[in-house]
Amino acid sequence: MAKSSFEYVKTFELDDTLLPNSWIVVRLDGKCFHKFADDHNFKKPNDIRALRLMNYSAYSVLKEFNELLLAYGQSDEYSFIFKKDCNLYKRRAAKLLTIVNSKFTSSYVFYWRKFFGDEELKYPPTFDGRLVLYPSQENLIDYLKWRQADVHINNLYNTTFWALVLKGNLTPSQAEKRLSGTLSADKNEILFKEFGENYNNEPEIFKRGTLLTRKCIIDEESKKSVKIIADVHDDMLKNNFWKDFSVHLMKPKHLLPHEGSLTDMI
Ligand code: ATP
Ligand code: ATP
Ligand code: MG
Ligand code: MG
Ligand code: MG
Ligand code: MG
Repeated sequence: MAKSSFEYVKTFELDDTLLPNSWIVVRLDGKCFHKFADDHNFKKPNDIRALRLMNYSAYSVLKEFNELLLAYGQSDEYSFIFKKDCNLYKRRAAKLLTIVNSKFTSSYVFYWRKFFGDEELKYPPTFDGRLVLYPSQENLIDYLKWRQADVHINNLYNTTFWALVLKGNLTPSQAEKRLSGTLSADKNEILFKEFGENYNNEPEIFKRGTLLTRKCIIDEESKKSVKIIADVHDDMLKNNFWKDFSVHLMKPKHLLPHEGSLTDMI
């Protein structure tokens, strides 16, 4: 086709091709979800329906893009990790960020009723997104540990805060004052001594967030191996996690070309 005289405007576009041979992490986060949560009657401090919807939306993203290795989510955020050698959209940053964000966001809306039933979706939610490259395995694992440490800090705080408000009849500002300057041990003690709650017994999904990973299992009926996406709620900060992770998840030999940990695979 003949070029139009307008086509020069295309040259204004900048090249955003990402560095090769590095992990591409896309993190999405809900915009003003403290308000979105209130507007949709999220249970405090953790609404399981909302977490499941987040996980299911992330699952549909992983299902669509094979070049995604893992995803990790907590609260109103999800991180997606593309394989090191991913060549989707020739590694163009804007393309990768926007396809992940739009697939996730439209899935969140599309599957809302599956998890929230009669609770009406009052307005279209918005998610922001960013993209970061990690050049080493250590950086990538530290990234995941960083996000999980964040869940731990926030969830322990929120669990104690809402116990003080809902069961201890403190006002939110009194509860905030009570918790200011407290350490993890103090919060554990408040929960245990004042409310008889052992933080360790909180559901793993609340304490650890959700890691979505690909796994091969043998289908009972057909006896054939099938690829699935599995959710894991485990402690990624403990030293042997990355080793054990391969043992219980990556056992099938054809998925893992050689014995070793997930870190070898990524
Ligand atoms: P921003 O637009 O800057 O991200 P935000 O209000 O979304 O603002 P975040 O730090 O992302 O702030 O926090 C998300 C908030 O969403 C939480 O503090 C909490 O109030 C709410 N929230 C998210 N998921 C859940 C959930 N599963 N159960 C209860 N509340 C939730
Ligand atoms: P890519 O993923 O590369 O964008 P694509 O199939 O979306 O692939 P486009 O060049 O974006 O390719 O073209 C969009 C196509 O979508 C059109 O060629 C047409 O087939 C279809 N399409 C979009 N909007 C309409 C519409 N309003 N009515 C009919 N067809 C449409
Ligand atoms: Mg934020
Ligand atoms: Mg947010
Ligand atoms: Mg957030
Ligand atoms: Mg198109």
